[in-house]
Amino acid sequence: MEPLADWPQPLDGTVTPRFAGPVTFMRLPLVADAAGLDIALLGIPFDGGTTNRPGARHGPREMRNMSAMLRRVHPVSRVEPYALCRIADAGDTPTNPMDLMESLGLIEAAVAAMRATGAWTLAAGGDHLVSLPILRGIAKASPALAPLGMVHFDAHSDTNDTYFGGSRYTHGTPFRRAIEEGLLDPRRIVQIGIRGSLFDPTDMGWAREVGVRIITIEECEALGPDGVAAEARRVVGSGPAYLTFDVDSLDPAYAPGTGTPEVGGLTPREAQRMLRGLSGLDLVGADVVEVSPPFDASGGTALIGATMMFEILCLLAENRARRRALGGGLAG
Ligand code: MN
Ligand code: MN
Repeated sequence: MEPLADWPQPLDGTVTPRFAGPVTFMRLPLVADAAGLDIALLGIPFDGGTTNRPGARHGPREMRNMSAMLRRVHPVSRVEPYALCRIADAGDTPTNPMDLMESLGLIEAAVAAMRATGAWTLAAGGDHLVSLPILRGIAKASPALAPLGMVHFDAHSDTNDTYFGGSRYTHGTPFRRAIEEGLLDPRRIVQIGIRGSLFDPTDMGWAREVGVRIITIEECEALGPDGVAAEARRVVGSGPAYLTFDVDSLDPAYAPGTGTPEVGGLTPREAQRMLRGLSGLDLVGADVVEVSPPFDASGGTALIGATMMFEILCLLAENRARRRALGGGLAG
C-alpha cells in the first residue's frame, strides 16, 4: 500500500540501519505540533503515582529506543498503519516531578490540546495514574465521546479508593476516579489478567458493584485468548472505547521491568492474540504504561511495551481509516 507522499514515514531499516539515527517512537519524525496528524505518539514521563517501586518515568525514553526494532507492516493482519494514517512522535507531555497535582493538570492540558487538533493519542507512560489525565483530556476536547468504554489489560483493577490515609490519586486508583468523574462507563469496562494477593477480601468489590467486568487470570486461562477477546468485544460493544495496557498484565518472567510484578501472568503471545482479536472495536485512544527501566536489566520489558504499542497502533489506524471511510466523526 502506497502512503501519500507527504505523510510521515518511519526511517526505512533497509536504508538506515535500525541501530542508527534519532531515537523516536517507531523511527517516525518528531513533530512539535500534532496538528495535521491522525494519531500522535506521545510520552508521559511521570511516575509520581507509584505506591511501591518507581521508575516508570523512564519508560517513554526506553520504549522509544526499543521501538526501533519494529518494522512497518503487521505480520498477521498485514495492516500498514503509516499508509492508513498520518502518524508521528509528538514528544513528551510536560510534567513536574515535584508536584503530582500540577502534573495531572499539565498532562490533561497537553492531551486536550493534541486531541483538539483532531489527533488521536497513543501514549507511553509513566505509571498507570497517567491514564486519568489522558481520559480527562479526551473528554475535554471531545465531550461527546464520554463516557468511554475501556479494554484494560492489567494484573490489578486499579479501582481502589485511597492510599496512605486519604491519597486519592495513585496508580492504584485512576479508574475509580475516571468512573466517578463520568469519563468511563463502568458497564462497558473489561479488565483482563487480574490476579495477585489482596490488601483485603473486599478489594474490587466496588468495581464489581458498579458493573466492571473483571476477567481474572484463572478465567483467562479457561476462556483462552480468543474467548477473552470475544468477551471483551461483547462488554465494550459498538460505542467508542479506550484501550489501556499495563505491562504488569504480563508474567514477570517476560516483563520484570515494572513496579508491581505479579507472578502467574499472561505470556506476550497470549496478549498479542487478545489484542489482535479486538480488531473492529471503535478504539479512539490508548496507552501502554508501567514499564520501569531501572528494573528492566535486559531491556526486554521496554521491547514488549514498544511491541504492544505497535499492535495497538495498528488497531487505532485501522479504526481511524474505517471512520474516515464512513465519512465523518474523525476527531470523535
Ligand atoms: Mn495498572
Ligand atoms: Mn498493574
